[in-house]
Amino acid sequence: MLMRDQFFIGGQWVAPAARERIEVHHAGTGEVMGEVPAGTEWDIDAAAAAAHAALDAWSQTPPAQRADFLQKISDGLKARADELARTIAQEVGMPIKLAGRIQAGLPIANFANYARIAREFKFEERVGNSLVVKDPVGVVGAITPWNYPLHQIALKVAPALAAGCTVVLKPSEIAPFNAFILAEVVQACGLPAGVFNLVTGYGPVVGEALVRHPRVDMISFTGSTRAGKRISEVAAQQVKRVALELGGKSASLILEDADLPAAVKGTVNGCFLNSGQTCTALTRMLVPASRYEEAAKLAAEAAKGFTLGDPLAETARLGPLASHAQLERVRGYIRKGKEEGAELLIGGDEPPAGLPGGYFVKPTVFGKVKNTMAIAQEEIFGPVLSIIPYQDEDEAVRIANDSPYGLAGAVWSKDDAHAQAVARRIRAGQIDVNGGAFNMNAPFGGFKQSGHGREAGVYGLEEFLELKSLQLKG
Ligand code: NAD
Repeated sequence: MLMRDQFFIGGQWVAPAARERIEVHHAGTGEVMGEVPAGTEWDIDAAAAAAHAALDAWSQTPPAQRADFLQKISDGLKARADELARTIAQEVGMPIKLAGRIQAGLPIANFANYARIAREFKFEERVGNSLVVKDPVGVVGAITPWNYPLHQIALKVAPALAAGCTVVLKPSEIAPFNAFILAEVVQACGLPAGVFNLVTGYGPVVGEALVRHPRVDMISFTGSTRAGKRISEVAAQQVKRVALELGGKSASLILEDADLPAAVKGTVNGCFLNSGQTCTALTRMLVPASRYEEAAKLAAEAAKGFTLGDPLAETARLGPLASHAQLERVRGYIRKGKEEGAELLIGGDEPPAGLPGGYFVKPTVFGKVKNTMAIAQEEIFGPVLSIIPYQDEDEAVRIANDSPYGLAGAVWSKDDAHAQAVARRIRAGQIDVNGGAFNMNAPFGGFKQSGHGREAGVYGLEEFLELKSLQLKG
């Protein structure tokens, strides 16, 4: 059992103000794997005060020195990479091998990347008689979800520290243990007291207390569109800056001339990664009506290859969902898909055989989906792919854009220039062209209800800066 009973505030481990605890469940078995404290507004008050007290000195620490700390954090996480992968595999359900590469590997790489960016970034520039200085925005409240828990933390904490901000982190209550490992690494690095603080708890309690706190200058949030809207409302009362990374319903647009087997395989992989609990998941596969039958067959075949299993088993390709609530939600959507008249090609809402206890859902593919159906409009966050046939390219682009979301997408064609031209017509933040790889230096974020603001690379650092002009005389 992993038991945590303290918060990291002002460089020390301190007792929470109240006694309430939160049970964390192992996604593969459903059993309780540990507990963390449920914080209160008093804990947020202490953390925000510590972050505020540390801000002046940290913001004036030279970027190269801030970079040294970021590199040390990356090294410290690397030394505990196996423990991180095992912890997150159990919290989230991602198969261990992938968890090592993605859930532990990406945050390690991002902290190191921001060490480099902090060293190279020009924090001031001349414009005519003005010196434009790029100041840290101040105390940052970081609120993060459970699906790529440490990656999402790293994409906020690393650039915020690089910018000279101090941070109060409120991680997801569903996958909080990785954040405690980060706090231990931060402490071992000797980061000045108060620069990084950790408080766990429920969103509407500690999350909102952080958003409301007058000492917190900016909220960087990743999570559901529902919570993002609420955070915007609360933050607006203080005209507080908010960056939002929210949900998605991304389209993979397979053009008439595409290499169909490669495009379908790429789409299914992009849909089922992390059991579909990926905000950029390619959940709508748009195929020419003339090639529908072939595409449907290929998708069902590809889905069959996703062997369900315990996330700690090396053989599993598809792990469980992260929580019981997710399980109910995803099964509900599969039932809805059937009721709405979509054709169930493989999978379904019945529990898979031989995997009692854990939050498992069979890899599921729906065919002949209409874009107006709930399974095509709403974020399911499970291993469920919808195949939508289209008549011509204009219709395909229209369907891709007919969504309240605009986070990601994909386009496939034999002709790269043609694929790029279509990609430019899609209103979303990241489009993979013919399976182009994820790039940690490219901006990441959404159009429409997928949020605003950008994370990753230099763009992610700029989120945490305020521009100030010093008008000079000569
Ligand atoms: P969630 O919105 O329920 O929770 C996210 C975080 O917000 C948690 O820490 C939670 O405690 C907190 N929270 C909840 N209500 C709050 C409130 N009223 N005030 C302040 N904080 C609050 O989301 P989740 O279920 O943890 O994550 C899944 C969602 O996140 C999906 O919709 C997914 O698409 C989205 N997501 C987006 C991105 C992206 O970069 N765009 C990345 C990953 C996940």
